Amino acid sequence: MSGGFTVHALLGPEQEEPAEVHARAVLLATGGYEQVLPFPGWTLPGVVTAGGAQAMLKGGLVVPGRRAVVAGAGPLLLPVATGLAAAGVEVAALVESTDPRRLARHGRALAGKLPEGAGYAARLLRHRVPFLARHTVVRAHGDDRLTGVTVAALDTAGRVRPGTERHLPCDTLAVGHGMLPHTDLAEVLGCRLDGLAVAVDTEQRTDVPGVWAAGEATGIGGAALALAEGHIAGCSAAARLRGTAPIRFPPPSRPVRSTGDPPRPSRPPARRPRTGPSRSPTTPWSAAARRSAPVPCARPWTSARATYGP
Ligand SMILES: Cc1cc2nc3c(=O)[nH]c(=O)nc-3n(C[C@H](O)[C@H](O)[C@H](O)COP(=O)(O)OP(=O)(O)OC[C@H]3O[C@@H](n4cnc5c(N)ncnc54)[C@H](O)[C@@H]3O)c2cc1C
Repeated sequence: MSGGFTVHALLGPEQEEPAEVHARAVLLATGGYEQVLPFPGWTLPGVVTAGGAQAMLKGGLVVPGRRAVVAGAGPLLLPVATGLAAAGVEVAALVESTDPRRLARHGRALAGKLPEGAGYAARLLRHRVPFLARHTVVRAHGDDRLTGVTVAALDTAGRVRPGTERHLPCDTLAVGHGMLPHTDLAEVLGCRLDGLAVAVDTEQRTDVPGVWAAGEATGIGGAALALAEGHIAGCSAAARLRGTAPIRFPPPSRPVRSTGDPPRPSRPPARRPRTGPSRSPTTPWSAAARRSAPVPCARPWTSARATYGP
C-alpha cells in the first residue's frame, strides 16, 4: 500500500470522538480473548470467566462468592485459584483438564517457569485447595443462580470417564480454557494467518506491506513476550520507514502456555525465514539497500519475566 493507511479511531472514555490518523506503517496489537468451552448450565449467574475473576481481584472489586470452583485449562487458573483463596474465598477445587504428563513434554520450554509454578503449588497447599488434574466440569447446577457443579475425570483421549462424576457445592465457578488470538483487524487488511494467529516474520512484519503485528495476535505467549515483540516491531517499522535495516535480534522464544485438553488454541507460528512485504521502488523501504546505519534497540526480553500473579 504505497499511499499509506488511514486509521479510523474513536477517542475518549466513551469512545465517541472520531479521529483519523494517517500513517505509512501500522502495528497491529489487538491481543487475544479468553476461550470458554460451553457445558450445560454455563450461563447461570455465578459462572464467570477465569479472566473476569482475575480482573475483579486485580481491580479490588467485590470478590465473587464464598465457595468457588476454578476450572478449565491453562496457567491463568493458578493465580485465579490462589487469588480467590487469599481473598478469603473457600476454593472447593482447582479443576485442570490438562494431563500433567503433557506438560512434561515441554520440560525445556517450561524450565524457567518452575519457580513460579512451585510458588503457586505452595500457595494452593497452604490454602488447602484440592487440585483435580485431568478433570473437567460437565455441568453447572442451579435454578436462578449457581449452587454447584459436577466434575468428572477425563481419559487419555479427553473423554469423560463414566462413573467418575462427583458433585461440588459452590456459588461461583471461574472457568476458562486459555486464550485465542484476536485477528479480525489483520484479516480485514488481508494479512495471512498461520493457524489461528497472524503470521509474522522475524521483524514482526505481516505479509501485507506496511503492516506489522505483535503480541497475542501473533500467538499466545504472555505479557513479557508481547512487550518484546512490540519493541522489535517498533524498531523494525522505524528503521524501514527511515530506509535503514534494523538490528537483527534473535527471535524471543515463545513460552509454552498450556497443553490443555479439551482442544487448545494452536501453537503460535514457528519463526520462519523472512517472508515479509515485498519492496517496490515506491515503498519507503526501497532505500534500505542504500543506507546501512542500523536502528539501535535494546533487547527487553532478556530481563523480562512473564508472570500471571495477581
Ligand atoms: C484477565 C487476564 C489476565 C492476564 N494476566 C496476565 C498476567 O498476569 N501476566 C501475563 O504475562 N499475562 C497476563 N495476561 C495476558 C496479557 O494480558 C497479554 O499477554 C498481554 O496483555 C498481551 O498484550 P497485547 O498488546 O498483545 O494485547 P492486549 O494487552 O490485550 O491489548 C490489545 C488491545 O487491542 C484492542 N483491540 C482488539 N481488537 C481491536 C480492534 N479491532 N480495534 C481496536 N482495538 C482493538 C483491545 O481492546 C485491547 O485494548 C492476562 C490476560 C487476561 C485476559
